[in-house]
Amino acid sequence: MKENQKTMKAQKRIALIAHDHKKDTMVDWCKSNKEILGRHFLCGTGTTAKLISANTGLPVEALKSGPLGGDQEVGARIAEGQIDMVIFFSDPLEAQPHDPDIKALLRIANVYNIPYASNRATADFMITSKFFDSEYSGTEEDYTELNSRREKDIQAEINARR
Ligand code: PGA
Repeated sequence: MKENQKTMKAQKRIALIAHDHKKDTMVDWCKSNKEILGRHFLCGTGTTAKLISANTGLPVEALKSGPLGGDQEVGARIAEGQIDMVIFFSDPLEAQPHDPDIKALLRIANVYNIPYASNRATADFMITSKFFDSEYSGTEEDYTELNSRREKDIQAEINARR
């Protein structure tokens, strides 16, 4: 498939999410990286965002809580080109009622080639990357052809029902 050039600005728009048993880890990680994170735009699922703000003083825009649609909100923002990376400390030992939303978020991050850290070690590698604080030129698959094929299919469906 054809790929397009995609540039991320130096100031990143970062989504922060942590499952309940990983919230302490997330707060601790944000404390350890407060100075760097403070240079970027932060948002997160409701409880995670509020906990980070309260414990670090970092401004974090709170979306809906994860089980109430927060992960889907992050996914929608990715699709709209409003989020550059996701740091999501997930709990591998507990079933989540919103598991389909979490899978959908990972999928949409992959559709748009968005960096996605699902544990602290990956987040450490990400935040120490030379790209974290500087402009990054990456690629994104070109979905123009797929889009126009879908539009043609829709038009054919509409015509068939006339
Ligand atoms: P929360 O959501 O930050 O509102 O707890 C996280 C999640 O479980 O996806």
